[in-house]
Amino acid sequence: MGWLDRLGQGLAKTREALRSSFERLIEAGPDPATMEELEAALLSSDLGVRVVDRVLGRVRGESGRGATARDLRIAVHRCLKEVLEPVQELPIERSLEQAPPPFVILMVGVNGVGKTTSLAKLAQRLSQSGKKTLLVAGDTFRAAAIEQLQVWSDRINLPLIRHQPGADPAAVAYDGIAAAKARGIDVVLIDTAGRLHTKTNLMEELRKIKRVVAQALPGAPHEVLLVLDATVGQNALAQARQFHEAVGVTGLVITKLDGTARGGILVAIAEELKIPVRLIGVGESVEDLQDFDADAFVQAILPLNPSA
Ligand code: GDP
Repeated sequence: MGWLDRLGQGLAKTREALRSSFERLIEAGPDPATMEELEAALLSSDLGVRVVDRVLGRVRGESGRGATARDLRIAVHRCLKEVLEPVQELPIERSLEQAPPPFVILMVGVNGVGKTTSLAKLAQRLSQSGKKTLLVAGDTFRAAAIEQLQVWSDRINLPLIRHQPGADPAAVAYDGIAAAKARGIDVVLIDTAGRLHTKTNLMEELRKIKRVVAQALPGAPHEVLLVLDATVGQNALAQARQFHEAVGVTGLVITKLDGTARGGILVAIAEELKIPVRLIGVGESVEDLQDFDADAFVQAILPLNPSA
């Protein structure tokens, strides 16, 4: 199965949630009841109030001009793409070319969002594209997190820098960078803790890791990637705000878009925070994590040829 099919399949729940209200709109035209139904469907997909207002405005405008069903879909497509295109980025491999190695990526996010898995999938991809890749087990808070990364390191055959559980994560990160410099590594991926119940300490800890990484290698970390779980809806937006304020997020990884009808949250986050969406996840396998493409995403949630 190709990526577009995976994306389409992964976003099926979100697409289904929008389908019937669009069909009704096309059958019945923009009467008040249909517009209300459309508004409810758009809101429940978590597109966010501002984007929904904009979409409804376009639909009204186009309908007033006697638009066909296809015109309406094209207008909504355009509207969503206007929000999403600015957050689409070149593949991360291109960023690697812009700084002398090692390129340092700090992965942050709360527990359970898919941070470790995404880190490993990205590491595997970079390694397969010929980059010497090093993993760093910066979540020293949970012994299981270190072990989980060890399992990945064995599975994808990449070196791992780890300390004992309870060690200072900034010290592990520092060692990771030192090892990377000594071994001629191209890219370092640093896992971090994501415990929720001590959020202030967590943000302090992440700030310290970032500082120490910058001391170990000026200009690093080159990317701070925040991993968000799409299934938590608006909560993901709250997390994004918090992490961004604390550590300055440079890119997002939005996972589990396959597990939710609320895939519109990606649009709401893009609209509010305007942080590049680097990768999206629509399943558990390695092929399910890919670069974000605004056009493909919109096409997957609202196909222009729904019967095709
Ligand atoms: P962490 O605590 O943030 O490091 O989370 P993990 O990397 O351990 O992932 C938690 C679970 O989410 C694992 O079972 C992953 O396989 C799963 N997962 C990660 N990304 C996706 C995705 O895009 N879709 C689905 N369905 N599951 C995912």
